[in-house]
Amino acid sequence: MSNSRIAEFLATASIYSKLPISVEDRAELSKITNGKETYSFDAYCPKCKDHSVFYFSDYQTYWDLKKEFKAYNTRVILAGFGNTFPEIIKSEEEKFRDLINWNRLSCVVAHCSRETKHEFFVFFNIDENYITKVGQYPDVNEYSYSNLSKYEKMLGKYCIELKTSLRLHSNNVGVGAFVYLRRVFERIFFNNYKENSSKLTISEDDFNKLRFTEKIDCLKDYLPEFMVTNKNIYSILSKGIHELDEQECIDYFDTLFESIIMILDEILDKKATEAKQRTLTNKIAKIKGKFGDK
Ligand SMILES: [Zn+2]
Repeated sequence: MSNSRIAEFLATASIYSKLPISVEDRAELSKITNGKETYSFDAYCPKCKDHSVFYFSDYQTYWDLKKEFKAYNTRVILAGFGNTFPEIIKSEEEKFRDLINWNRLSCVVAHCSRETKHEFFVFFNIDENYITKVGQYPDVNEYSYSNLSKYEKMLGKYCIELKTSLRLHSNNVGVGAFVYLRRVFERIFFNNYKENSSKLTISEDDFNKLRFTEKIDCLKDYLPEFMVTNKNIYSILSKGIHELDEQECIDYFDTLFESIIMILDEILDKKATEAKQRTLTNKIAKIKGKFGDK
């Protein structure tokens, strides 16, 4: 990652996140939008279909490269456009005033290190005290969304809800993202219950009367170990839906999302191991069959 907290914010923050900027930050902002220093960041490149290093381009570099006004097409002034007249030497304060006055809504462009045509646009608003990220193309979560498709067979339509939780979180929606995560958690549990209920000694009626964490205890021999040892995931998700505020849900989302991915991976790994064991058992039986009783 670059050594600039502003560049890092532009590259990785959720849409509508705000970054406080002090007077001291203005020189750094100017370097990103006008200067000759290069800032890099890692992101998924949908065109390469792989992770890549991207470099932010200043306006002049972009102009030299493309010879076109993105501003004309997008009706947005490209960052630094107001500061690209080399004969005018401006102070940092004057450059900042230009950003505010000319480029209230700005755009910076980054290029994939493998191919400059693979572009990454970030739109942001600047005012006296904050930068607000207001747009980005492409979506940095695209890789995550496509990577979640491997759970489709297991989750069915609930796989879309898992993706929706991530999408809501990336748009700074806290409680809503928790609702979708809890539905996915419940689906994993009830899929397992459906598979194993006949092995339980408790009746369906009595089972239904249990609290959710008690249900997990009841099915603990069949559930993924991580789900049993971390059954409080459910309590936290429920607390988020009923009591926590938006910011608390946003703060805790990554831990809960990754925990659910951990549970899903544990199920996938177990199924893969069982399938491999079945294949090997069949092969061993065939080899033994060739030997007869010898
Ligand atoms: Zn690329």
